[in-house]
Order: sequence, then structure tokens, then C-alpha cells
Amino acid sequence: MNPVPGVGDRPSTHSAFGAHGSVLVINSGSSSVKYQLVNPVGGEAIASGLVERIGESDSYVRHTFAGNRTERTGPVADHGAALRAVLALFDEVGPDLGEAQVVAVGHRVVHGGAVFAEPALVDDDVVHAIEEISPLAPLHNPANVRGIQVARELLPDVPHVAVFDTAFFQTLPDAASTYALDREVAEKHGVRRYGFHGTSHQYVSGKVSRVLGRRLSDLNQIVLHLGNGASASAVRGGVAVETSMGMTPLEGLVMGTRTGDIDPAVIVHLHRNAGMSVDQIDDLLNRRSGLKGLAGQNDFRELHKLVEAGDEAAKKAFDVYIHRLRKYIGAYLAVLGRVDVIAFTAGVGENDALVRAAACAGLEGLGIAVDPARNEGSKKEPTIISPDWTPTLVMVVPTNEELAIARQAVALIAPE
Ligand code: AMP
Repeated sequence: MNPVPGVGDRPSTHSAFGAHGSVLVINSGSSSVKYQLVNPVGGEAIASGLVERIGESDSYVRHTFAGNRTERTGPVADHGAALRAVLALFDEVGPDLGEAQVVAVGHRVVHGGAVFAEPALVDDDVVHAIEEISPLAPLHNPANVRGIQVARELLPDVPHVAVFDTAFFQTLPDAASTYALDREVAEKHGVRRYGFHGTSHQYVSGKVSRVLGRRLSDLNQIVLHLGNGASASAVRGGVAVETSMGMTPLEGLVMGTRTGDIDPAVIVHLHRNAGMSVDQIDDLLNRRSGLKGLAGQNDFRELHKLVEAGDEAAKKAFDVYIHRLRKYIGAYLAVLGRVDVIAFTAGVGENDALVRAAACAGLEGLGIAVDPARNEGSKKEPTIISPDWTPTLVMVVPTNEELAIARQAVALIAPE
């Protein structure tokens, strides 16, 4: 789809923006930068792309604009070089960032600790605060900071806004955010539950209310963000009251490559008796476990093929995944007392009808069911997949974290 009206290789961007401009959303990882130029009003992605394998000799750059994809391979030394390559592609193939009237740069920041409950206008103090939170997210926050720093240097004339993955969950009640750990140790080291994917949970729960035409404050929702990373949340009247991820994104649901919940004594056992180092265990739990660890495959499309071919490990992996998911749905029913909407989102939630059906199977007695015909296939638009008779609506609501970041950035710099 060509989101920008116009013809030829470089369509004009004027008509797409009017007076509202656009927001450049940047998600900077340890060896990658992903970006999207978003129209915060219409919601469409005007251009998008990524730089991968930063620091290696075969870095990969992809830029998509007006249906045309430009790809480059070659060394990109660091995050500064990556962003310069991206800006050069905007110059070369469009859209022209001047014409696009970039009103803000929105940065996804993984961990906001207990400091950031809202998006923040980036200044040196904010950068410093994000750096200080880094021990809680040693892989993510330093990379986010690098992205912010180079973007501020290269785009000094627009406001930069940091949007935190944890912010939506700063409303968790103490009973939900507190680990039953020695109080002094926990306080000294910031050990508590923060939650992640907050931008997505907030966007989806808000979208549900708009789509249904019902007040957010009237709705109790369970949001299931099932992607390669996966998390569940309980949202009462638009306010997050529980979520499955904890101090880090490792806790909770079974994920593509992460264990989710596990007895913490397993870590002690592996260290003491299997001779594994802390770094090896960290790698095991985060990158070699979950569906991949159980079945050798973390993509559900491939996992289903293995199950169909009679692969026992794949069948078990599916069962473990679904069992955990259903435990969380049950727990959040108890947390909320009454559930109006269960919303599936992200790669698996939006596309995998088998996962959605299995997650809700046999729950008719609790007022939850999935209609097989309504559930079929991938959903690109918000869709109700429950039958008419159930008190709880089951929905698929595609998430859009970039748009959510863009809108939060605009709301901060130009509040209505
Ligand atoms: P995300 O992290 O939200 O991008 O989700 C990525 C995951 O979504 C992949 O690892 C797959 O397991 C899953 N996924 C993506 N497309 C499909 C599809 N068409 N059917 C089933 N699962 C899908």
C-alpha cells in the first residue's frame, strides 16, 4: 500500500501532513536501529526502516518509502553512522524530512525504573536519569541512550521525547509490584516489578474503548501482547493493575526464547551443580529457552508445521505455552473480578487463530468463548472474535507501538 498520495518515485509529502507534521520514531537496540516516520494524526507510517548488525562488516540497511524498498549492505561502524545512513536515505529516496515537517523525535526507552511514569522531554538530566537506570536493563538502556544522543546531535532543532516501556505500569498497586524479598535488599537495588510492553498495553486498551464506543473508565480488560516477547496485563478502567513481566522482561508468560516464570532456585542449582556462570544462565534463560528451548523453534508458523508432522517436542512446547497463558487469564479474572474484554495483540495474538482458540477453550462457564468462524485467520483491524452471547468480549486488536510513541510525543510537546 502506498500511504502517501502522489505519483512517481518521490511523491510529495505535503498533502499527507497538512499542518500537523510528522514524528520520527526511533527504537535503538544494542546492534540495531529501527525507525518509522509517522503521521500522528492519520496514523500511517510514511516511511520506515532499520539498520542491523551495527559494528560489523556486513551491516544491513533497509528503508521503505511509498512502497519502494531500498537495501544496502556494508560496514556501519556505530549508532552515529547508522543514523547518518538513515538520514542520507531520507535525502536520497525520500521523503524529504523538511517537507515532512518533523515536529518531534520519539525514542522508545525500555526501562524507566521508578522515575518515569510519563513520557519525558529529553534534556541532559533525562539522559542522565536513563543512564542511571541502566543496571536494571543493561542490554537495553545504554543502547537507547546511544540512539538518543546521536539523534540529538544530528537533529538538534526538534524536540526529542523519551517514551518508556515501563511507564504504563507505574500504576501497579504495591501488592502487585512488590516481590516478597527482604525489604532492604529490594529497596537498595531497585528490585520490584516494573512491567514492560506498556506502550502496547496502553495503546490496545485505549483502542478497545474507542472501537467499542465505550468509556475506558467503564472497561475491565485483559490485554495479551503475544509476540516473540509476550506479556499479559490486567487493566481496570484504563489503569494497569497487574502485568506478567517483572523487574525485567523475563518474568511471566512463555515466550519465543525466554522461560517466563521459573523457580528462582533453578538458577542457584544451575550455578552450583551444573557449573554454569551467571552470564551463561542469563543467556540460557533469555535466548535459549521458551519455545526455542523446548522445540528448537520460536516462530509459531514453524512450530505448527512441526506439530502437524507429529513432532512431540513441538506439541509439548505448544501445550506449555498455552497452559501458562491460561493460568494468567485465570489469575487476571480473579484480580479484576469482572472482565469485559480480553484483547489479543502482537505477532502471535494478531495472526495465530490456534493460539487464540486454545487460550480461551473450555471457559464458557466463565463467560468466555471464541467463535471459530470469527476467529479465523490474521486480523489487520480490531475484530470481535467471541460469539454474541458471551458477557466477555474476546477481541483481536493490532498494536501499533510506533504510532503510540508518536502520539505521546506530540501530546507532550503540544498539549491540546
Ligand atoms: P512480534 O514480536 O510481535 O513481531 O511477533 C513475532 C512472532 O509472531 C513470530 O515469532 C511468530 O511466532 C508470530 N507470527 C508472526 N506472523 C504469524 C502468523 N502469520 N501466524 C502465526 N504466528 C505469526
